[in-house]
Amino acid sequence: MSELMQIDKQYVAGTYNRFPVQIVSGKGSLVYDENGKEYIDMGSGIGVTAFGIADEEWAQAVVSQLAKVQHMSNLYYTEPCALLAQELCTRTGMKKVFFANSGAEANECLIKVARKYAADKKGAEYSTIVTLKNSFHGRTLTTLSATGQEHYHELFQPLTPGFVHGDAGDLEGICKLAKEEKAAAILIECVQGEGGVIAMEQAFVQGLAKFCKEEDILLMVDEVQTGNGRTGELYAYMNYGIQPDAVSTAKGLGGGLPLGAALLGEKVESVLGFGDHGSTFGGNPVCCAGALSILKRIDDKLLAEVREKAAYIREQLTGAKGITGITGMGLMVGIKTEKPAGELVRALNEKGVLCLTAKDKVRLLPALNIPMDVLARAINAIKEVCAE
Ligand SMILES: *Cc1c(COP(=O)(O)O)cnc(C)c1O
Repeated sequence: MSELMQIDKQYVAGTYNRFPVQIVSGKGSLVYDENGKEYIDMGSGIGVTAFGIADEEWAQAVVSQLAKVQHMSNLYYTEPCALLAQELCTRTGMKKVFFANSGAEANECLIKVARKYAADKKGAEYSTIVTLKNSFHGRTLTTLSATGQEHYHELFQPLTPGFVHGDAGDLEGICKLAKEEKAAAILIECVQGEGGVIAMEQAFVQGLAKFCKEEDILLMVDEVQTGNGRTGELYAYMNYGIQPDAVSTAKGLGGGLPLGAALLGEKVESVLGFGDHGSTFGGNPVCCAGALSILKRIDDKLLAEVREKAAYIREQLTGAKGITGITGMGLMVGIKTEKPAGELVRALNEKGVLCLTAKDKVRLLPALNIPMDVLARAINAIKEVCAE
């Protein structure tokens, strides 16, 4: 272990089980450690660096805003915040945006919106939010309560009340639960990320959308990981032909700077009024300027490339030795393997490929613009370690 790793171990809270790799520089999908060893980055900071490390266009947008105004309170107007909100709404059909700093915070906003919408419209007893078992919605106490995984809950009781969890795929069961519990909203990931890269069925998502519309229960989609081009559409819900009432997003949106957004549709656009919600850093002009440059580049051509690369990965890995299945959608890939995923990821680190895990799977979240030759090298390395 290097001296720096020892300092980190001594002084940084022990919440992360870091790999023994220190990254000091990078360009696009290639990163370098302190000894100059090159790695292909197949995790992109957990789906954050949408166009890779130190991307020139993004950096230019960020640096140019940084030299103008790095922060203003939300008491005043700034250009990047307004233009990013406009771009998000124009591209999604949503009506208003609340800016936060993370995925969890974006979800907190959705939860507040749902509670207030239902209380205003039906009464305060309509406060429950239905989420899915095996979901992941964040680490704040309330988003942890929304997260449908017991092992995250155990150590932090009491949780925020008002969340119930149904089985993904069980349309009838979820609808029954939502009615019984007087639900304000149903919150889902179209593709569960941390839960193991599991895409929801078309019929399930469309059925939920229909039910929610009939019952005036909000359908809210957590696009923190799936959003911003990751699945081959701008937002994953677009693969399902539905229009949610509210959407949260973060990760790839900021391209590497902290930014979350709650997109509010027609039903809920006026739910939040002056003083109902806020954030000191939310809508930071530097983060928004970077995000605007990212969003503008996620056009039809780029999305087609994402789908092509996704098809290539699936074609290469399906049926390969030691690989028993591929899950996910677009460039959100889960690989079921014969050997334990953690062991494979460590072997890949040695070979110069950085991958993630999700539950028992190897997980890939490469940059959306990863060059084909770099992707091919990474896929070959993955095939090698799985076959060994
Ligand atoms: C990562 C993630 C979150 C939490 O985002 P943070 O920025 O870490 O707060 C919430 N929901 C989903 C689906 C995620 O993947």
